[in-house]
Amino acid sequence: MTKFAQPTIILCPTCNWHLLQSQLMSFSFRQSDHNGWTDGVTTSGIPIITSPLLQCPLCHNPFWKKDARVIGQLQPEEPPAEIGFFATILETVTGKKKKKVDRDPPIGFNWLGVPNNVHNAVQSTLPTIGDWLTILNGSVPLTPERESIVRRKIWQKGNDHQRIRSDGTPCRKTPLFSDEFSRQNLLALLDLHERNLVNESIEKAEILRQLSRFDEASKILKMIPHEDQISIRFQIRKFADNRDSTVQLLE
Ligand SMILES: [Zn+2]
Repeated sequence: MTKFAQPTIILCPTCNWHLLQSQLMSFSFRQSDHNGWTDGVTTSGIPIITSPLLQCPLCHNPFWKKDARVIGQLQPEEPPAEIGFFATILETVTGKKKKKVDRDPPIGFNWLGVPNNVHNAVQSTLPTIGDWLTILNGSVPLTPERESIVRRKIWQKGNDHQRIRSDGTPCRKTPLFSDEFSRQNLLALLDLHERNLVNESIEKAEILRQLSRFDEASKILKMIPHEDQISIRFQIRKFADNRDSTVQLLE
């Protein structure tokens, strides 16, 4: 069963507003619902949890989860203690007050100098493809790891018109990007692989296959140690041998 935990409170790195970041308590999915594609897209998983990039709904800027300062975990709200008429009289007569239980202050209080606006925290949202492009073309240079994450996302989004849902309809009717933009992005991702800044041989072979460089793709797949993801390698190699460069559903 998939259950959400209390969200983490983070600060938007741009506007410093308090945001909620969803957390999972438990996660499960049926293997039969799991569809994986040759470009790494899967249908399992919850994007708001798995996305390394989020968007702030206040300033609309995308940000990396890792860059957001973590303030703490939201505590479940406790119902206010009932102080009834008789309880008050009893306290007055006996002079005894109900013992307060010592516990950690809830996050709404000003601990660690945090302003008391946690209650106004808003749910962070999933970035749009425009946000991913903003991150790629932003003024802050990306590390090779982050550049590969962004380019992989753009590559996968650019394949959506080739992806057929289980009901037979495509994920998108028309390509999201021009062929040339998609090709340049894929070449840039390949370049990260060739400079050994990314080290995932199957992905490199799949990029080459989608660039119609079938023999190079097959050669890489042959060189991977025998036991390593043999089923995926076998399927991608078969598509390469068939001179097929389109994204494919894995079995
Ligand atoms: Zn913000």
